[in-house]
Amino acid sequence: MALDGIADPVAVTGGTETALAAALVSTDEAFGQFLATCQAAALAGHGPVAPRVDAMLRRLRHTPLPAPHATPPGTLSYQEALAPLKFAILGHPVLWPQVIHQFTQISRIGGAPLGWGMGAACASWPAGTVWYPPFRRARMDALPRTRCAPYPVCKDDARGSVMTSTRVDFTSSAPVPGTMDVRWIHGSPSAKHNTDPDIQVHAYNEHTFILRQNKAIDYEAPFLFLLFGNDRAVLLDTGATASAEHFPIQRTVDDLTRRWLAVHPREDYELLVLHTHAHGDHTAGDTQFTGRAGTVVVGADRATAWAYLELDEPGRAGRVDLGGRMLECLATPGHHESAITFYDRYTGLLFTGDTVYPGRLYVNDWPAFRSTMDSLIRFAESRPVTHVLGCHIEMTGVPGVDYPVRTTFQPDEPPLQMTTQQLRDIRAAIDEVGDRTGRHAFADFIICYEQP
Ligand SMILES: [Zn+2]
Repeated sequence: MALDGIADPVAVTGGTETALAAALVSTDEAFGQFLATCQAAALAGHGPVAPRVDAMLRRLRHTPLPAPHATPPGTLSYQEALAPLKFAILGHPVLWPQVIHQFTQISRIGGAPLGWGMGAACASWPAGTVWYPPFRRARMDALPRTRCAPYPVCKDDARGSVMTSTRVDFTSSAPVPGTMDVRWIHGSPSAKHNTDPDIQVHAYNEHTFILRQNKAIDYEAPFLFLLFGNDRAVLLDTGATASAEHFPIQRTVDDLTRRWLAVHPREDYELLVLHTHAHGDHTAGDTQFTGRAGTVVVGADRATAWAYLELDEPGRAGRVDLGGRMLECLATPGHHESAITFYDRYTGLLFTGDTVYPGRLYVNDWPAFRSTMDSLIRFAESRPVTHVLGCHIEMTGVPGVDYPVRTTFQPDEPPLQMTTQQLRDIRAAIDEVGDRTGRHAFADFIICYEQP
């Protein structure tokens, strides 16, 4: 006990009461500042923010919010929301942009709460604008610095360190969780009357986004992935449509990047565009990135992509460093000769392209596909894999039954994510099929092999 060695504990703790009183005043003032910031920025346009915060807290007092992705899963109570809101976040203005970013993401991008604390509490908030202005130093300086004294880091924060680049730690708690609690857009009975967004954006976590193309634009409705690192972001695939008017993939990536950089300011942030393979429904949007500043688009063909990633033979692993966030890359031919699987150490996500997904696995090269599955299983067994994410969904909710090719309405899709057990199921299916050509249905996938 620390007090054991202190001769006069009363003298030592004498200032505590005053300090506590100052802290409480400071919290309320900071809360006011925080609300004003929300009002002026991300949450503008829906009336005064303060009553909405009050209403949200009142609601929460009666009905805790479900938080299925918290660790451990449970509910978020009023007390639990209030504690981080008033005592953890407000004393650290440097966190404000992140909190407001969360509001915006949750309200605009949709999906379940991104995380515990404020994110979950504010899941039902409407946000006014997607974009908010960068924090000005003056706003930080306006905070009552002296009254922040009880918070150890407040002094630094109050100097406006929010605009200073801080590196995100992508390694020490990897693999970090994210949420797959999302209802994917899945087409509509009439493509003409489809009202879904051109591109659905799902925030898996703060640094990881899963995008899906609208089926009304292209029936392939591929999934694309955008991952942010400290020095650059990577976009895996560019979708099935070249037209920026019909499929604004560059604008979507730009929006997400601007928002990420608002919370994690950096100069000279780059974008790297890679592909799972060279089929047109994964590369058509490449042209939208031509001429984009600070952007490298790596050709999807085998010679170019494999050379860039130093994959000189099937089964060999290469690496891409996004700045503290490492992607491993594995050459996985079989569906297509250029196919590459990406593994993100930060999230434990395995991006398998068209090699593995809940749908028709079209095999172009049977021996290559078989040895690719062997390598993939070895690879996945030696690393923590949280989800296996392919680029399409074609199965229905009924085992062994898929939607017809070219369908533009899939109301009963299974989830996108698969498991490492399903990699083993595919490997077992390969043995069962032998190299017989044709279509071979299994519960979660269908193997389609036509001899070239
Ligand atoms: Zn393909």
